[in-house]
Amino acid sequence: PYMLASENENGDRVNGSNLRGSYWEDNIGYFLQKKLHVWCQLPNGQWELGTIQSSTGAEASVMLSNKKVIKISTVDLLPANPDIVEGVDDLVQLGFLNEPSVLHSLHRRFSQDKIYSNAGSVLIAVNPLKDIKQYGKEFIEAYRQRVINNPHVYATTDAAYSGMLRDEVNQSIIISGESGAGKTETAKAVLEYLTSLGGVSGIDDRISRANVILEAFGNAKTSRNNNASRFGKLIEILFSRTGKICGAVIQTFLLDKSRVVHLVNGERSFHVFYQLCAGLPSRLKEKFNIRAASEYSYLNHSECLVIGGVDDARKFNILVEAFDTLQFTKEDQEHAFGLLAAVLWIGNITFQIIDSENNHVEVIANEAVANAAKLMGCSFNELKLVLSTHKEQSGKDSIAKKSTLQQATDARDSLAKFIYASLFDWLVEQINKSLQPGREYSGRSINILDIYGFESFKKNGFEQFCINYANERLQQHFIRHLFKLQQEDYEFNGVDGMKVNFEDNQECLNLIEKKPLGVLALMDEELSFPKATDLTFANKLKQHFKSHPRFKGERGRAFGVRHYAGEVVYDTNGFLEKNRDLLHSDSIQLFSSCASKLLKIFASKMVNHSYKPAGSISSTKGVESREPGVGTKYKALLFELFHKLECTSHHFICCMRPNRSQVCGLFEEDLVRQQLRYCGILEVIRISRSGYPIRITHKEFAGRYEFFLEESGVARDPLSISIAVLQHFNVHPEMYHVGYTKLLFRTGQIRAALEERRTQA
Ligand code: ATP
Ligand code: MG
Repeated sequence: PYMLASENENGDRVNGSNLRGSYWEDNIGYFLQKKLHVWCQLPNGQWELGTIQSSTGAEASVMLSNKKVIKISTVDLLPANPDIVEGVDDLVQLGFLNEPSVLHSLHRRFSQDKIYSNAGSVLIAVNPLKDIKQYGKEFIEAYRQRVINNPHVYATTDAAYSGMLRDEVNQSIIISGESGAGKTETAKAVLEYLTSLGGVSGIDDRISRANVILEAFGNAKTSRNNNASRFGKLIEILFSRTGKICGAVIQTFLLDKSRVVHLVNGERSFHVFYQLCAGLPSRLKEKFNIRAASEYSYLNHSECLVIGGVDDARKFNILVEAFDTLQFTKEDQEHAFGLLAAVLWIGNITFQIIDSENNHVEVIANEAVANAAKLMGCSFNELKLVLSTHKEQSGKDSIAKKSTLQQATDARDSLAKFIYASLFDWLVEQINKSLQPGREYSGRSINILDIYGFESFKKNGFEQFCINYANERLQQHFIRHLFKLQQEDYEFNGVDGMKVNFEDNQECLNLIEKKPLGVLALMDEELSFPKATDLTFANKLKQHFKSHPRFKGERGRAFGVRHYAGEVVYDTNGFLEKNRDLLHSDSIQLFSSCASKLLKIFASKMVNHSYKPAGSISSTKGVESREPGVGTKYKALLFELFHKLECTSHHFICCMRPNRSQVCGLFEEDLVRQQLRYCGILEVIRISRSGYPIRITHKEFAGRYEFFLEESGVARDPLSISIAVLQHFNVHPEMYHVGYTKLLFRTGQIRAALEERRTQA
């Protein structure tokens, strides 16, 4: 799919196929004579380095590095680079640009702990899965002083920071990659760099500690990552006029709250639960009746209570320090811990069947109910009633009915999920209050985007669907900024031959979000059919998308989506329930009558936001409309997010997973190749290499450098001024292109030189 439209004199090819034989017809003699390296694709698909021994036109004898000589068709040969052993800082420097050369360069660098490489404007970071000792104060200082200028997350962050100050344009650092690729660690390094610049009245420390809280409450061990983010976050760092941090705004997206009540084998719930059980001081343990994690049914059913090398008790102390730094009162901290305890006890509540004919149940009166009720601040009987009955609408009235086992279990789990998700939102709100800027805020900011990475497990549900959808949106943003907009810019400014064909994921986005016929819309439609089930929903999808290239019908309740990063099969079990995300009105009522201060707040929020369950009918100005489901609301949130980033200057960091087993030192080429392909890294390199990566509008350029001209002040248009400035400094015409609205430069050197003179002037 990644074939280039324009041919290339270097014999470059992108995907390891479809090489023009003519390249070798012309050059094989040269390679033979100079004993230059070539890449040979072996029948197993692997590329190996070798040197050509002889050739008969279409076929060549090649000696591999193990001295074995093989006969190979020239179609399976690619030119290797002379600097092949080294690996290059910027892949743009590769003489021959092809996939094995890029992979080899990354592999080489990885084995020397050089995990960062540039691909034009994109930073590639291959997760080392060990401490590479390239972080901390000294390195930050070295990058800030530009003593080192190797690719590094610090260098990228510095570019964003300098860009913000120089151009007075807000910046975004957008971090992408699969689950376990290292996004969150990268985001931390970005924060570390920015906070080292110093902040107003301790704000830098508070921002770093906010992360500790978010991670404790929002991350968990999955089978792919011991510290997997289970929410998306956008941190906007706010700056003063003097370039100091003066505040931050944290926005979070769709927490994977189902994890509170259900775990897959080998995975854990949110870290904070285990930290609480291990580290809570004994006074509070007694107060909240906190036991070992193994005693709680929400934690003990996945056969995974600890993470190797992680001390949950110590982490709890760090969490409390973070709460203190962010000025959470001890009282509020206790309220929060009390609610976590409540969630754990709610999970231990069980039911017994009292009417086997109708399958009606009642709550078993045990310590779990007693503890949960005590922690929530309601009466034992109130809680029992809410869990074992539900209201049904009968005309205008609603009547209380006894619940079945399924209904009661669902009500219990909804309660736990609601408390946890509300607590998470409340924490974010409090953190934001503590990070609010004062009058020194200049309107300048740097956004850092770190979401949950693309994931595909043996079983994938609603959560994976939402996570992967968010990643599709992120991918579209990436493509748009690196290819679509750039190409439009070139075309508009009259630069030819810059066409690369990239894999656009628009089709997959259409499948998910198009109205009225996309997966999200169809899912919402089911909300209004009382008889709809996950199976009828799955069948509807299969019927509508039979021939959609990105859709794959599977057996029963399952369906497959061909995502940009691979195919994922989803089980629709629970989709409708989770999309509806119903919390019974009795539960809200219960919360408002609870003594717990936080539960009261949560309940009032529901009422103030005029809580309407998804699918319920609301009437605005006489027009009846159905409340959208969780998925559709999520879509709106993502649109808003990327729209917000649109008017900022972008810096992309692509994180990559080196292997499937989360171990250090192992570089699985096939896995990295797959990530290189779907990120379109070769195309990024090509467009950067052949193009003009630095583009400045005439208006901006003229405004900044006109003063260099002796006869400045003479009324002239920005375009003429731009040209006059370049001529004034005798810049070689090869180095730039004058477009209609912009000046385009081949490298950043000219601008850097002009900037230097400007500061000297
Ligand atoms: P998810 O999408 O699941 O949240 P992620 O991309 O955020 O995944 P991280 O949690 O950042 O992945 O990284 C996974 C693990 O890899 C970390 O817990 C850490 O052990 C290791 N790791 C990542 N980046 C680095 C790094 N730069 N140096 C050392 N170890 C790292
Ligand atoms: Mg993460």
